[in-house]
Amino acid sequence: MRPVRLVGVDGDDTLWRCQDLFDEAARELGELLAGSTTPCVLAEMLHEREAQNLELFGYGAKGFTLSAIETVLDLDLGSVDGSLVRSVLDIGRRLMAHPVEVLPGAEEALEALARTHPVVLVTKGDLVDQERKLERSGLRRHLAHVEIVSEKSTATYEELLRTLACPAEEFLMVGNSERSDVEPVLEIGGWAIHVPYHTTWRRELVDRPSVAHPRRRTAAALADIPPLLADLSSHGAPRP
Ligand SMILES: [Mg+2]
Repeated sequence: MRPVRLVGVDGDDTLWRCQDLFDEAARELGELLAGSTTPCVLAEMLHEREAQNLELFGYGAKGFTLSAIETVLDLDLGSVDGSLVRSVLDIGRRLMAHPVEVLPGAEEALEALARTHPVVLVTKGDLVDQERKLERSGLRRHLAHVEIVSEKSTATYEELLRTLACPAEEFLMVGNSERSDVEPVLEIGGWAIHVPYHTTWRRELVDRPSVAHPRRRTAAALADIPPLLADLSSHGAPRP
């Protein structure tokens, strides 16, 4: 078995906070519409809209904002005045401008990883939004390469590894999403370490996570990744 030569790391909810800011924005939208619908109904409607719009709007705060405005229209409140739309836009604007909060231990873990392996950021979402987060995170100096993609599919990873001339079996992906960071990488023959975050967007969940997969591991925190990787280098593969 060949040792891991290249490490991919996810951005949102792996290196910096993300989903809880979206949760907070959705909660603010609920407060704004408190007289018109219940939080449960609103959450369901918003989720539906976001799912429907994903292909056209892509991931991120701008897509969320447009879907939120559309959800307000879906509520059929009679005449929707401009100030209500402006309030929804303000929620989205705050989401987009929110200071970037690097997760505890993320920088140290990245620094340790970068000492032994080239580290690639593989993040999906709006280009401007992701570039802003990366810039403000101060983590760029630890990264050998940055890949901002619209979707993390097997094709995306295959293309990336082709560009970086790295066989899938020598690639390890680290991230919080089963759907984006774990499943597609296992599928193409790579390694994956799942680092769960305390909240996950519904769309990023999978029905049956491949927890027993031989090339998959789970780490409680990013700090656990460097020792796991060291183990990998000395044994060719991480031990179960
Ligand atoms: Mg993520």
